[in-house]
Amino acid sequence: MSVDRSTIWPYRDAEPGEFYYQRYAHPTGVEAEHALGRLDGGRALLFASGTAAATAVVLAYLSPGDTIALAEGAYFGTSVLFDELERWGLRYVEFDQTEAPPERADLVWLEAPSNPFLTMPDLEAAAAHPAPVLVDATAATPVFLRPLERGADFVLHSATKYLAGHDNALLGVVVCQREDDAARLHELRTRTGIGAAPDPAYLLLRGLETLEVRVRRQTETATDLARRLREHPAVLMVRYAGIGGLLSFDVAGAEEARHVETSLRVITNATSLGGVHSVLEARARWEPERVPPGLLRLSVGLESPEELWADLEKALDFRPNVSGSSAAE
Ligand code: PLP
Repeated sequence: MSVDRSTIWPYRDAEPGEFYYQRYAHPTGVEAEHALGRLDGGRALLFASGTAAATAVVLAYLSPGDTIALAEGAYFGTSVLFDELERWGLRYVEFDQTEAPPERADLVWLEAPSNPFLTMPDLEAAAAHPAPVLVDATAATPVFLRPLERGADFVLHSATKYLAGHDNALLGVVVCQREDDAARLHELRTRTGIGAAPDPAYLLLRGLETLEVRVRRQTETATDLARRLREHPAVLMVRYAGIGGLLSFDVAGAEEARHVETSLRVITNATSLGGVHSVLEARARWEPERVPPGLLRLSVGLESPEELWADLEKALDFRPNVSGSSAAE
């Protein structure tokens, strides 16, 4: 495993070889694609981000007037991307992914589990739909879900999250069931120039070596924290799919959410998910129209569960600080 940062490779006897110009393909990216293809059981293509991967699928397969059936409560950025493409004639309708997709759809877009609502899709019902099915399995990872084996045509990951795993590489991947789909996406990626660079691909390869141990440990810790949060009097509800390190829980409102965000010392108050360090944020700052003001999304890292619980318990104590009160009286 090494990084080759070349943008060109010499021809041999005036013939281009496997690699000739980085935008088409580069050795580190191809090595990462082989590893990702093995994990999901298909043919993988790397992109500059999860969002670039989503853009590629839409541009390659849909035409003006086509409709995407999008899982309700899926990653907010996905619907923002589709909103942007509305000007080009793209339409989408949201549906409850625990049930069958609406009939009139040219592409079915599921998310497993959805971020930040943590619902799991009904894959069998979606596979029975005549349209191609894509599963964004960013939060499940191939350790817990291999949608191509369950009838999906495409799997998408923001590899920025669990696959790379260390909050230092922005990447996306689409894994295709069929070879001709991979060829089409490769063509579109080259033409639009939205592929991944060698350095993040290298960091992804290194992250993949520990993927399974990381997400199994994160699942154990998340299961434990979800149980404790459910019993906490200040927590109104907890959403956890039982797999992976992502969960969300609600406190009473915006003020309580802000108190939690500013009181944490071990868990970092930041966006994103899937890294080795735990992060938490109130999602209402980004998507106020669709999440409750007290919804906190927690991505569980590799810290000790006891240390994380102590941090959360302290942050969930909303009593006014009485420590200096006797001196003031
Ligand atoms: N899909 C899901 C489920 C996500 O959570 C994200 C990012 O948060 C994306 C896609 C987009 O990925 P990226 O930020 O790598 O573009």
